[in-house]
Amino acid sequence: MSTNIGVEKKNGFFGEFGGSYIPEDLQKVMDILEEKFEYYKNDKEFIEEYHYYLKEYVGRDNPLTFAKNLTKKIDGAKIYLKREDLNHTGAHKINNVIGQILLAKRMGAKRIIAETGAGQHGVATATACSMFDMECIIYMGKLDTERQALNVFRMELLGAKVVSVDKGQGRLKDAVDAALSDLVENYKNTFYLLGSAVGPHPFPSMVKHFQSIISEESKRQILEKEGKLPTAVVACAGGGSNAIGAFAHYIDEEEVRLVGVEPSEAPTLTEGVPAIIHGFKCLTLVDDEGNPKPTYSISAGLDYPGIGPEHSYLKVSGRAEYVTVSGEEALEAFQVLSKTEGIIPALESSHAISHAMKLAKELSPDDIIIVNLSGRGDKDVEQVFKMIKE
Ligand SMILES: *Cc1c(COP(=O)(O)O)cnc(C)c1O
Repeated sequence: MSTNIGVEKKNGFFGEFGGSYIPEDLQKVMDILEEKFEYYKNDKEFIEEYHYYLKEYVGRDNPLTFAKNLTKKIDGAKIYLKREDLNHTGAHKINNVIGQILLAKRMGAKRIIAETGAGQHGVATATACSMFDMECIIYMGKLDTERQALNVFRMELLGAKVVSVDKGQGRLKDAVDAALSDLVENYKNTFYLLGSAVGPHPFPSMVKHFQSIISEESKRQILEKEGKLPTAVVACAGGGSNAIGAFAHYIDEEEVRLVGVEPSEAPTLTEGVPAIIHGFKCLTLVDDEGNPKPTYSISAGLDYPGIGPEHSYLKVSGRAEYVTVSGEEALEAFQVLSKTEGIIPALESSHAISHAMKLAKELSPDDIIIVNLSGRGDKDVEQVFKMIKE
């Protein structure tokens, strides 16, 4: 596992973004977490155990699949898909969950809490808690429990307790607030397993660290297959964990374009302003009063008014580009990939696919695009069925 890739500054600041803006008692918990993470990320036994579970339980390495038919159909750049959809539990989130739960075990935690939006992080966390025999409490916005009812049942099957949060708008943001208050109250025996590259330091750096396995593999794989680096890496960005993991090992390769794709309905980096949300500073969508603004993407996993601090920095520094794709375009890409490649992508990932198709058209056959296929679309099939029929 490599460390020190990318642009992190001291104490979790990426330019003006990141840091930690939290009450003193919570800061103490974060300080211990930082210390333990810094220690164990370089610990040989920890690294070996992390890789053991990635291989034997998650099923890594996952392939970098050449999308032959899609490439032919578009007739531009070659498109490769990094197959996070093939991981156990069907998305990239498990990479981070395995890393954090191994850390939680070493810190002596008995109780794991987590927030979830679409349910994917909740399912990944409940899965790992079941395997590592830990108590598991998942906070989920009430509206999201309704949108993703099957995932709630899945978590319950796995032995987790799902707490429906009806404060605020009953969305991901409110679930994070609930999880943070639980942590402040119960930090002595509780580990907050955060699901994206957001939150107070050290979470964004820790989540990036565990997700950077994506680009560690894809870089090796593309060099084996093509003998050169890709022209562009494209990933969807909600909180930004799959994107930062997909970018990590390319950040220092300046000729590689890094492209993050947001839903037009939650264009955090395109329209956001610097603000503090959930204990860290990032570009954030705010309303007239300066409060985080509700978002309404068709994919629950991209519905977050903030984004990871490193993405905020990559955006203002110009190292990465961020674009938007509408729900309608994502829905179209969902169907195109299913028909051409026999791969049903998550609606979140469909945003990245949609933009990659546009970009491929502008580029030449010598160019290579790696799209991070962050998850599989089985969870979205019913929703898509309804949207297409209506
Ligand atoms: C949760 C999720 C996302 C968005 O989260 P990030 O932290 O931005 O990666 C994207 N794709 C899938 C499949 C997800 O489950």
